[in-house]
Amino acid sequence: MVIDSGSERRALVVEDDEDIRSLIEFTLSTQGFEVSAVESGTAALEAVRTLDPDLITLDLGLPGIDGIETCRRLREITEAYVVMITARNEPIDRLLGLETGADDFIAKPFDAHELKARVNAMFRRPRRPSAAAAAPAPVGASGPGSTHEVLEHGVLRVDVDGRRAFKEDQELALTRTEFDLLTELMRSPARVWSRETLLRSVWGTEWSSDTHLVEVHIGNLRRKLGETKDRKFVRTVRGVGYRMESSDT
Ligand code: CA
Repeated sequence: MVIDSGSERRALVVEDDEDIRSLIEFTLSTQGFEVSAVESGTAALEAVRTLDPDLITLDLGLPGIDGIETCRRLREITEAYVVMITARNEPIDRLLGLETGADDFIAKPFDAHELKARVNAMFRRPRRPSAAAAAPAPVGASGPGSTHEVLEHGVLRVDVDGRRAFKEDQELALTRTEFDLLTELMRSPARVWSRETLLRSVWGTEWSSDTHLVEVHIGNLRRKLGETKDRKFVRTVRGVGYRMESSDT
């Protein structure tokens, strides 16, 4: 049982097919993950509590509770990146999976290279503003020379380094992907972000060009921000993408 392994990244593989499980375990271990594996959703929910993984690969077709339901329950107890792995590549399954909080999908059959590239991209996500990004002056920095980056926009506040987001001082339970999306948007709230740009900056450059990912995760983010018909935080710019709603409305 691994409780404290310093900075080592931990991964949990949830897969009932032995061949695929071995492939994923091997691939992730070559990427420096400490890998654990289970064969069912129920076992995954148990394992997550003790392992506190950074990454979970989740088979969609599992015995007992399926991948969709497992993902929904996992989301209540972990902020790990969740990559759903499916033999079925029907749009409806993919959308369902993403709506329950999976960060991405990989369709079987896939090879080790594809899995590796996606996991690398995921863990390369910007944790700090790049030099090229038009970062606003940090608000609420704790002192001169502090690099603690806090973004504010209306009632929303994002503590970038602490990876926490607040609305009216209430903390929001965002997944990593939702947090990354909100952070990107709030770095330049007046800018209109295309789906492709968000895909590149949040999911990484090697990512597939599936802009559905962006749409579904924006939808999840909107829900957690508590948007209503009359109160929006993220504005859809028709035919282009998204920007933050102006903070004075
Ligand atoms: Ca399966």
